[in-house]
Amino acid sequence: MAQPIALSKGVRRAVRLEEGLSEFSTQDMLREILGRFGEDPSRDGLVATPSRVEKSMAFLTKGYREDPATILRGALFDEDYDEMVIVKDIEIFSLCEHHMLPFFGKVHVAYIPKGRVIGLSKIPRLVEVFARRLQIQERLTRQIADAIQDAIEPQGVGVVVEARHLCMMMRGIEKQHSSTVTSAMVGCFRQKETRLEFLSLVRQSGSGEG
Ligand SMILES: [Zn+2]
Repeated sequence: MAQPIALSKGVRRAVRLEEGLSEFSTQDMLREILGRFGEDPSRDGLVATPSRVEKSMAFLTKGYREDPATILRGALFDEDYDEMVIVKDIEIFSLCEHHMLPFFGKVHVAYIPKGRVIGLSKIPRLVEVFARRLQIQERLTRQIADAIQDAIEPQGVGVVVEARHLCMMMRGIEKQHSSTVTSAMVGCFRQKETRLEFLSLVRQSGSGEG
């Protein structure tokens, strides 16, 4: 026999809240937030702001509605090439999930194929899918590496992300010019020689890029 479900106070409150807010549009809520931070949402310069913020947030989080596997499908090729493939200086703009403030910088991706390669233009696209979500830099780095690993099962993958976080810079926690570096090394990139080769290629700035 099914028992009636007893909801805890917290859950009842959450359900009520959800019902309570679902009748408001995103723009209604943004107007409410502007008011709560001391603004007058009806003044000229702010009238269209909720609609702009809604559009801009939809764009900055579009990665939730994209599937990395779908993007890579059709761009995977059988190939005997077994040297390091490196795509560096891919620009990223993402939002930190703790403050919803931007972090931005560069991503360097490398892998050593094992019978299959990825169409080069798809690597920045892949990076973009993960960057256009609320992120922490460490997870972003790992997700890029894992997606490549899953797609072509290469001998190894290396990903380095260098980024500056406005949530730290604007609040004075970080010196204005310092950046955070994260890396994810999979397979043969865990071996010292391969890792060092990758890192030294990354450091040769601006070479061979059109
Ligand atoms: Zn933050």
